[in-house]
Amino acid sequence: MTTLTLHNTRTRRKEVFAPIDRRNVRMYVCGPTVYDRAHLGNARPVIVFDVLYRLLRHVYGAAHVTYVRNFTDVDDKINAEAQRRREAGAPGTLEELIRERSDETIAWYLEDMKAVGTLEPDEMPRATQYIAQMVAMIRDLIAKGHAYEAEGHVLFAVDSYEAYGALSGRSVEDMIAGARVEVAPYKRNPMDFVLWKPSDAETPGWDSPWGRGRPGWHIECSAMARDLLGERFDIHGGGIDLQFPHHENEIAQSTCAGHDFANVWMHNEMLQVEGKKMSKSLGNFFTVRDLLEQGVPGEVIRFVVLSTHYRKPMDWTEKKRQEAEQALRYWMDLTWELDPTPQSDLEIDGALIEALCDDLNTHLGLTYLRALHNQPQKLLDHARFLGFLGDEARAAEKDYRSKISQCFGSGPNEQLAELAGKLDELRNGAKISKDFSKVDALKQALLSAGIEVRMTKNGVELNVTPDFDASKLEALK
Ligand code: AMP
Ligand code: ZN
Repeated sequence: MTTLTLHNTRTRRKEVFAPIDRRNVRMYVCGPTVYDRAHLGNARPVIVFDVLYRLLRHVYGAAHVTYVRNFTDVDDKINAEAQRRREAGAPGTLEELIRERSDETIAWYLEDMKAVGTLEPDEMPRATQYIAQMVAMIRDLIAKGHAYEAEGHVLFAVDSYEAYGALSGRSVEDMIAGARVEVAPYKRNPMDFVLWKPSDAETPGWDSPWGRGRPGWHIECSAMARDLLGERFDIHGGGIDLQFPHHENEIAQSTCAGHDFANVWMHNEMLQVEGKKMSKSLGNFFTVRDLLEQGVPGEVIRFVVLSTHYRKPMDWTEKKRQEAEQALRYWMDLTWELDPTPQSDLEIDGALIEALCDDLNTHLGLTYLRALHNQPQKLLDHARFLGFLGDEARAAEKDYRSKISQCFGSGPNEQLAELAGKLDELRNGAKISKDFSKVDALKQALLSAGIEVRMTKNGVELNVTPDFDASKLEALK
């Protein structure tokens, strides 16, 4: 059997993966804070860990893997968004608006992540459903001398945990110098972080031994992972931006509560825009939905993300989008007539598994798929294993094909060629008359019918896009 090696951030090297229990391989990935649409950067960990999930299911059997990804639905950003809505006149109490905001964001998130070809994790806990477990864990940390109460807050005492900083390789002094720590007079050490904080009457809150309040972000993941995966589990993942402080703090809390916590820590690098992390706070982001609405298929996003190794920073570029779109179009055409249901005895080729087992070498995985163009059935089966040419993409393709055949019957190319000829002719005439109004009008009409128009010095090329609208084209004939 192929050996699975994964890069462990904690040890800073690739290690052979040895599950704690082969019959129940357990993975936790930090999910989104649900206050807004997921941006493209947020989709990267989801796609990367989806590949790992598929691989683990393949290696250990689907029934022997548990994947948990949470929703952070207690957060000041969600509260702020609900407050903004209330000020704008939305009906309902603040609590209702908060609930509404997180419910709708979760539904969007699931829809968008499905569109990029990811499987749903086995468990998707919401932080608000685990408050009792968080309170229990905080009490335990206080009892063990790792946390203290101060002015309605409970803080984790970083000085009580010697290994604090080990994951990110920083000393507490470096952290203080480099981080924007919230200076609060009640903190014993400026790096001490909040486990529990007080809520005012308007803000969501739960009763606790320290008064009505709400949990800090870090304790949420520690408590949910403990509840769903146990005190010791195999893999903990997330973006590298979470390594410090979020994951450092999760480790501190869980270890001090007496849990072994995760064996392997995995982090994806950031998706960037012009060399800077794509993030909401920098304002340099676009959402997955923006791209889907522009007609970029979800699987194109998946392809672009997987073409770069997860531990390298990557840019989203127009060129990558085009290349991915071409590859997927080619694969779809090659495999369209074939049966997508896998044979019961389907074997996934060792070469693909080997690539993925090498710390998720998805780039090589895609190269492997590209080489299968002479074996369309094998291409289809293996592409689907990696989350491509899935049911959604095939449904969209069916739609697209039926639209085209409705309009053109069996000869779309001739009719497109005719329209292209007409446009070229108008253009040649306009070059002499200097009146381009007819050219522009026809071009515009084609575009609004969902036809891509490319005008080069060699002629005019027309291509049907998925937004193609046959009724608009009828008028042009
Ligand atoms: P957040 O909702 O910001 O906590 O992020 C949810 C997940 O997306 C976390 O695993 C983050 O590490 C990850 N993430 C956020 N921004 C990016 C980015 N630009 N590139 C890759 N991953 C990101
Ligand atoms: Zn987390």
